[in-house]
Order: sequence, then structure tokens, then C-alpha cells
Amino acid sequence: MSAQAVSSQDQSGSKALPPLPNVDKYAMIVTRFAPNPDFVLHLGSIRAIILSHDYARTYNGRFLLRFDDTDPRLKKSALEYYDLIREDVRWLECQWDAEYIASDRILVYYEHAEKVLRSGDAYICTCTPDNFRLSINAGRACPDRSKSAEQNLADWAKMLNGGFGEGEAVLRIKTDLSHPNPAVRDWPALRIIDPVKYPHPRVGSKYRVWPLFNFAAAIDDHLLGVSHVIRGKEHLTNAPRTEYLYKALGWEIQEYVHYGRLKTTDIKLSKSLMVKEIEEGLVEGYSDPRLPTLAALRRRGYVPSALRKIVYEMGPRPVDATLSWDNVNATNRKEIDKIAHRYSFIANPIIITVSGVEQTYDAHLPLHPERKDLPDRIFKVVPKNGTANLLISSQDIDLLRKSKVVRLMELFNVEIQSVENNSIEAAFHSQDYMKAREVKAPLVNWLPSENNMIGEVVMPDASRTKGPVETNIRQEKVGSIIQMVRFGFGRIDSLNAERVTVYYAHR
Ligand SMILES: [Zn+2]
Repeated sequence: MSAQAVSSQDQSGSKALPPLPNVDKYAMIVTRFAPNPDFVLHLGSIRAIILSHDYARTYNGRFLLRFDDTDPRLKKSALEYYDLIREDVRWLECQWDAEYIASDRILVYYEHAEKVLRSGDAYICTCTPDNFRLSINAGRACPDRSKSAEQNLADWAKMLNGGFGEGEAVLRIKTDLSHPNPAVRDWPALRIIDPVKYPHPRVGSKYRVWPLFNFAAAIDDHLLGVSHVIRGKEHLTNAPRTEYLYKALGWEIQEYVHYGRLKTTDIKLSKSLMVKEIEEGLVEGYSDPRLPTLAALRRRGYVPSALRKIVYEMGPRPVDATLSWDNVNATNRKEIDKIAHRYSFIANPIIITVSGVEQTYDAHLPLHPERKDLPDRIFKVVPKNGTANLLISSQDIDLLRKSKVVRLMELFNVEIQSVENNSIEAAFHSQDYMKAREVKAPLVNWLPSENNMIGEVVMPDASRTKGPVETNIRQEKVGSIIQMVRFGFGRIDSLNAERVTVYYAHR
């Protein structure tokens, strides 16, 4: 395995990832993504998933999905999220090679807890949290630290059989008491959670002692053969904790790649805030368009290739990265502009009455401007007594007020005569596009006044914009990503013969 292997492979078609450290030490590169199934995934998760997956693929290694569900009290998982997270990870095109669920592995954690108790590398601490903090902050051992292994194993049995209640005992890993970071000193590894008050969604009230994230993740990373842990800088203090545990177990520490923080300007990535907004009914659920969840992005027409480009741009670098909706939208626009079929949606329509139309016109509009192989969308405009009634968006009213002549896209040029708030009078000017260019006539999107479908666009703020949509959109299906001409990109959320609902992505 060599560094060259990396630069030649690049899934995103943009930047390549720098090589991982010390790959030669490992027979196989194994990475993992370890979400807590207490909510769906969001933009803040994509870096860990995509980097871990793509590095594993780059080195022909393995990528593991590990559900970290060992806190039924404060970070309680819910059954629905296991599947929703699987769906999110699959959507990102990060198929995993094996899946593990921490709550299936409680006895494995117990086994290793007993091992370190027996070897004297851990102890059962029965101090109150305040008393423990006072001693440890001063670099002093708590009275429990000098107990014999026999006494510790007896106390461990009491933790398991109910002799201690919630909060009365915790298993601590012995570290250097003078470690510069007090949070590392004799860190807690397993604790009691009242199994009746806080049943686990998968294993119910079967266990009363639960490992903390650090302990379970460290044990599994070794046992599952993880070679490279790729995660955010906020986990930096977990590495020295793991080192003490591994030393006690005689295990070698794996490689860590800690990337920088993700700063956001206008994207709210707080999981607890999102959960709160859902609970309070401020948003309609995890796929509400106002949320930066992957489910919401997927629903609105963001594509995994765009998110992958964003991740490759940030890479695994330790410097902090900044993300804004403008970045995300610009990257996504480049991806979907190539594939999105074009349709006419007239937001808040008004009628424009055009006089002097002496013949029937067939307007040919492309399904995609760069795909001449695709059939055009054709609109027939049949005047009655020299007058044609068409629909344009009331958003274009200001444009019409300012312009003498406008071009109705791919149809003809009209001279504006009067603009009222709910009706516009115009006269046929000319057909030729060159004429429109000569007088610098702006382009205006339109539809015939009859035989359209009912359209509704759910905007990023969850408001709904209504208007007619051309019936050609019936050839699409739910999930199609489209461009509503001069309005914006979006994804079809529901569709039948009369009605279409589109979730808006961006302009
Ligand atoms: Zn103690």
C-alpha cells in the first residue's frame, strides 16, 4: 500500500484526499462511522461518513457502521432512527461492509471491564461527583482508588445486581493523576442507568450498567480491527483516554485523524435544537425544509455528489472549515444543472392579453438547453380574434413596468401597453429573437392560460408558492430533480395527473 494509491483515485472528480498516516503498519485499512441513533443525520455528519468510507475504498479496506446506542438516559436512541440513518448513509453512497450495534455487545464491554478491574487498572468509585471532582482537580486519588481487585470485583457485582443504585457507583479507568487535562484523569467508563425508568428501545430493561461512549468505542475499535479513526477535533481528548485503557489491556493504539471544526454562518447544525424544534411543533419533522438534515436536503433535490465535493474541499485537514448555504447551493447547482429537466412554473400568475396575434404559434422550448437529443416541450398558442391570453408570474410585474418590449420565451416579442396589478395589456411586436436583442427586451417565462396542472412549491422557509405548471411534467416521477425556469431548482415530492408538489432547493 502506498501513497500513490491515493492520488490516482478520486471519487468526487475534484480534489484528491491526502494519504492516511502509517498505512503500511496495517494489513487492512478499516474505518468506521459511529452515529448515535437518537436523531437523523445532518450536514454536520457528512465529513465523518464520506471521509471514513472513501478512505476505506481508496485502500481497498473495510468501512464499518457502528451504532453507538449506550446512553438510554440522556441520548436515548429510538428504533426509527437506526433505519433512517442507514438510509442517510446509503444515500451518500457510503455502503458499509459490516454493521455493529453497541447495545448487542454489552457483555463484551462487561468482559473487558472485569479484565481491567482484575489487573488493577480500574476501580469502582462510589464518591459523589462533587467529591470526586474536588480530589481529581487537585491531582489527588479518591479513597476507592487503593481498593484491592477483590473488593473492586465485589463492588462491580453490586453494580450489576442492583446493590448500587443509579449514580451511586461508577467504574473508572486509572490514568496519570497529574495528566494536564483533568477530564482525562481517572475517566468514567461504565455507569448505572435505572433500567426501569430508562428502558432501552432495543434491549429494554435487560442491563443496568452501561458503558460510556469512550469505553465502548475504544473496545470496539480494537476488537473490530479499526486501523484509522477519522473524526472531528472535538474528540481530541478521547485519544489519551483510550491510550490508558489500551495500555491496561496490552493493545496497540490505532491511528487518529482529527479534522477541524465545521463553522457555519447561516446553517444551524445543533441536533438538540432540531429535536427541540420538532418537539415544540415549530417544524414539521426531521425532513422539514427548514432543517439541514440529510432527509430534508434529499427531499429538496440536493445530491450526494455535491456533498462529496464539499467534503473533499475541506478534506481531513485540522484547520477549521466554514460552510454556508451559499457554498452548499453553489456546489449543488453545478451538479444538478447538468441533469435537471426544465419546466415552466408560473408563481402567482396573472394574465397578459396580447393583441395583434394574427396566426397560431408553436413555441418549442428545450427540456434541457444542452441536450438537443431530447424532445422539445411544445406549446401551441391559438389566438381568438387576434388576441392571445397567456399567464406570466406576478413576480415579473416590475420588470414589465420598466420595459417597453419583452420577449415571451421562445414565442414572440410583445410591446407592453398597460400594467395593472391583476391584468396586463400588450401588443404583438415581432417574432424574431434578434429583434428582442436589438431593443434589449428582457426574457419572460409564460404558459398558455388553459390546460395546465396545479403546482405547489414548498419553499426553504416552508411557505408554499402556488401557480400553474405545464402538463409535460407528468413524464417525470416523484424524486425527479427539475428546474422551474427562472424560478429555481427543486425535487418533485408528489405527482398525479392534476397536481404536482415540488420542494424547492435553490435558485
Ligand atoms: Zn471515588
